[in-house]
Amino acid sequence: MDFAFVSGNPALDLAGTVLSRRDEPIDVLAAPADLERWVVECDELPDRVTADVPTFESALSLREATYRLALDRVLDRPFDPASLEIINDTAAGPVPTIKLSDTGLHTSGDLRAVLSQIARSGIAVLADPHACLKECGRTGCTRIYLDRSRGARRTWCGMDECGNRVKAAAYRARRRAETTAEGHGSGTQTPVTPAEW
Ligand SMILES: [Zn+2]
Repeated sequence: MDFAFVSGNPALDLAGTVLSRRDEPIDVLAAPADLERWVVECDELPDRVTADVPTFESALSLREATYRLALDRVLDRPFDPASLEIINDTAAGPVPTIKLSDTGLHTSGDLRAVLSQIARSGIAVLADPHACLKECGRTGCTRIYLDRSRGARRTWCGMDECGNRVKAAAYRARRRAETTAEGHGSGTQTPVTPAEW
């Protein structure tokens, strides 16, 4: 399964590796190798990393803590103390090193350092009173993202993941309704095209 990096923050993207949390959760990080691949695909993290089982479990624990804290922010309630402890302890470790060269920024470090960096970026966004955290508007998608759009008008975690799916479903529903109406003899409605969305 492809990973989505649409939340605007690596810690929120990590939290988003469990899909449909309230209905039938799907964990896209089923094994340490999945986490290694996720780190490589995440732009802000090192190009290569090795995950052993204890560190993989720490990553999952950081992920669940981050999700809980982000949900606390979305619901405007106090942070869960146990989750705060996890994110704060993880952030206290060493972070990856960064180097500048003609090819750009190069980041390196082991998985523990990667988790520290993810925890720090999570703390930065959770502590920012101006950060607009939202849950995706598609029913069933529980992804939480940082809305940086002008006027904070973004509704979906991502257009490919959710926005287009919702719009396509609404379009199909309208077409069905129209077909039914035509079947009952109205026959005068203008066809609706996707461009109207
Ligand atoms: Zn979504």
